[in-house]
Amino acid sequence: MSLYCLECSKKELDCCREAHAKFTTLKDARRIADFLQTDVSSFTVYGELNDKDREEHIYISRDRGYYYDLTRKDGKLLQLKEKRDGSCMFHDEDGRCRIYSARLLICRTYPFWFSAKGDIIFDGCSSDCPIVCAVTGNDDPEDVTKIEDDEGSRLKLALEYIGHTPGLIREILGQMMDEIEDYRLNIHQFVRDNRIEII
Ligand code: SF4
Repeated sequence: MSLYCLECSKKELDCCREAHAKFTTLKDARRIADFLQTDVSSFTVYGELNDKDREEHIYISRDRGYYYDLTRKDGKLLQLKEKRDGSCMFHDEDGRCRIYSARLLICRTYPFWFSAKGDIIFDGCSSDCPIVCAVTGNDDPEDVTKIEDDEGSRLKLALEYIGHTPGLIREILGQMMDEIEDYRLNIHQFVRDNRIEII
């Protein structure tokens, strides 16, 4: 976990606590099941987006070209189960992830995405994230004065905050695109085969 993420987790502001659906690719689900030696159905549900996701257009592309529409025609998404407050079920009280080495792809790349053109972009919803502030030049002095933006150095530094280089994030995001394609083709069969709860 990067220093920035650790700082957020100490202040109980980390994104794992946010009530967003934690999108799970089929490979994510299999990897976590192997890691925990359990069934996929014990930690996933196939459910609709919650109000917060709808409001912020997370995972929905209908009016924003750089969001990926991960929901199928039924509007549902494979996602991790949540605690009562909407935070991730694997999120410990001390802010740590109980499945860190096997965590979701989206947890490894957040808050970065690929645009439709293949550029690395940030998730524009995460305007409070110190890393996004660093990329965008948000004038929060605590975050931005650490960074001089010339020749893309701001993005490079922001990537370093989550332990990635531009090359590495491109590789992981490429993997994400492949897994999204696999997801689109096979999600319904996967839900049936693994007896995943539909909500
Ligand atoms: S899997 Fe881990 S990193 Fe991802 S949201 Fe849950 S607690 Fe956070």
